[in-house]
Amino acid sequence: MAEVMIITGGSRGIGAATASLAAERGYAVALSYRRDEGAAARVVDAIRARGGVALAIAADVSVEEDVVRLFQTVDGALGPVAALVNNAGALERQARLADMTAARVQRTLGTNVLGSFLCAREAVRRMSTLRGGAGGAIVNVSSRASQLGSPGEYIDYAASKAAVDTLTIGLAKEVAAEGIRVNAVRPGIIDTDIHASGGDPGRAARLGAGLPLGRAGSPEEVARAILWLASSESSYCTGSLLDVAGGR
Ligand code: NAP
Repeated sequence: MAEVMIITGGSRGIGAATASLAAERGYAVALSYRRDEGAAARVVDAIRARGGVALAIAADVSVEEDVVRLFQTVDGALGPVAALVNNAGALERQARLADMTAARVQRTLGTNVLGSFLCAREAVRRMSTLRGGAGGAIVNVSSRASQLGSPGEYIDYAASKAAVDTLTIGLAKEVAAEGIRVNAVRPGIIDTDIHASGGDPGRAARLGAGLPLGRAGSPEEVARAILWLASSESSYCTGSLLDVAGGR
């Protein structure tokens, strides 16, 4: 039986690249998305066309009932989850703190922080050897922004990723004896649509050129790091925060 991997926000960007690589490596893949059903279906169809197992489930990670339903659907359709990639993440238009509304900050924290906590909770309930599970791996997708702060762009997003770092460190220690490893990747400037959601579609090309490696990263380069942290190749890593950032 193929191991089951849940990837939140798997319809585009880093999540889609991770879903595709995970299927290539033999995982049965469940990907979630929030609203772009067509994009999620294209990822699933491409995996199935190559003989892989995949399904897409609409679930907003910031809504508890959605997250509970996501995991229950995967239980029934594919079996017990062995790996969770907490990838779903969002940012809003570049703004200074003085111009941020409370609703915007709440939306950012809802997806990036509450969403990661809820999905990790559902995964731990299933994976923990204390609860009859077989163990597993959780990989959180944080950001270099957690260290850099994103001044003038989106410090709400950067702060939400610092919370993801701390979730990674704390949960790793909490569940280490229960067969669960918890790690994070911290991507730098990766060429995806997320920069357009910030109102700056040229950001990856513009900032990439100034990085030590001289370019933005690709979603596939982040996916390879995620797959490594999810696999037994990284069996002695837990609570690790792996920068995938071209030297940024
Ligand atoms: P992206 O291209 O904008 O894709 C975001 C994905 O997350 C989409 O599949 C989207 O689904 C989903 N999503 C957003 N909010 C959601 C919610 N509330 N519930 C469920 N799904 C939700 O972004 P990306 O660049 O691949 O980013 C993926 C992760 O990497 C994020 O956590 C991001 O913060 C992190 N990251 C990215 C970069 C970068 O430079 N690209 C750098 C550092 C960290 P829909 O399309 O259906 O809305």
